[in-house]
Amino acid sequence: MSDFRLPDELVPVDGRFGCGPSKIRAEQVAHLVKHSHLLGTSHRQKPVRDLVGRVRSGLAELYRLPAGYEVVLGNGGSTAFWDAAAFSLIERRSAHLSFGEFGHKFVTAAGAPWLQSPAVVVGEPGTVSAFTGGEEADVFAFPHNETSTGAMAAVRRQGPRDSLTVVDATSAAGGVNIDVSETDVYYFAPQKNFASDGGLWFALMSPAAIERIERIAASDRYIPEFLSLSVAVDNSRLDQTLNTPAIATLLLMEAQIRWMLDSGGLAWADARTRESSGMVYSWAEKHPNATPFVTNPDHRSQVVATIDFDDSVNAATVSAMLRANGIVDIDPYRKLGRNQLRIATFTAVEPTDVSRLLGAIDAAIAAL
Ligand SMILES: *Cc1c(COP(=O)(O)O)cnc(C)c1O
Repeated sequence: MSDFRLPDELVPVDGRFGCGPSKIRAEQVAHLVKHSHLLGTSHRQKPVRDLVGRVRSGLAELYRLPAGYEVVLGNGGSTAFWDAAAFSLIERRSAHLSFGEFGHKFVTAAGAPWLQSPAVVVGEPGTVSAFTGGEEADVFAFPHNETSTGAMAAVRRQGPRDSLTVVDATSAAGGVNIDVSETDVYYFAPQKNFASDGGLWFALMSPAAIERIERIAASDRYIPEFLSLSVAVDNSRLDQTLNTPAIATLLLMEAQIRWMLDSGGLAWADARTRESSGMVYSWAEKHPNATPFVTNPDHRSQVVATIDFDDSVNAATVSAMLRANGIVDIDPYRKLGRNQLRIATFTAVEPTDVSRLLGAIDAAIAAL
């Protein structure tokens, strides 16, 4: 077992199947090297601002942004965005779907002392919960893709007309096609389908969201500058961030957005992640020892496939055997505590590599 060696034909060309940080393509790194003269230069000067501008307009094109929507960005990743939302987006009270770790983390951030305690519809891990209609809130929030469980929700407007629909798209954006007009804020960090390093957040914001942000900024609520979405909107309009961004991340992201656009845009990315995840789910359904963790096929994520194993297969051992052969980060979300493998089928991952991975898992199980 410890000297388990995969036959060459089962070794993926790229063994990175982690859910974030995730596979960064060699072409992105080449783009980074080609533009390395931007590294170590001022983010207040035109060359870096032009780069930020290209990332913003690239996202607008990828998402066919409706009139009046804006691409806003800032430092701190999606985790910082939750706190920014508590300061700048939620007026009195938020309502949440919480069916995994990430949805739950936004609930915690929205428990800020200046807000009424959030209305939460909790769902079991592996399911997708739904608003009941009884929630009184001005923000309705849910994760598009719950990365900790591999359950994916439909992106639809929620709540009454004057409320905002705020969607955590961190692991879905760039891999799942949606209609942005069904949301007011569709936010994400770039270390998943956008195959970049972490540290930034991006948000596609509707005119109603920006109006809300400006109204709260004009109120007497205390808002730290770093977590002010009004400050982020103002800076983004100038193709800047409040404080220094990671320029390398922006270059990696630019290359990934260009690749997606040149390949056929979001519809293409959507078809590709469906193809990859579809292979994983049909393999698991036929496997004598495996089953997809998410039982409702409509809620199975096309970008994060979670597969449970019966007691005869120790998934952690399989993962360790594959890691020794260059296949990395297919362990389940640490707090879920299941006998499971979790496979990212992000846009950057080659479907042919997913096919090899499944063969590699079979080979590891046979060698147990
Ligand atoms: C990865 C992830 C996050 C956390 O992103 P950070 O940039 O590390 O804060 C939040 N939500 C979802 C759905 C994620 O997949």
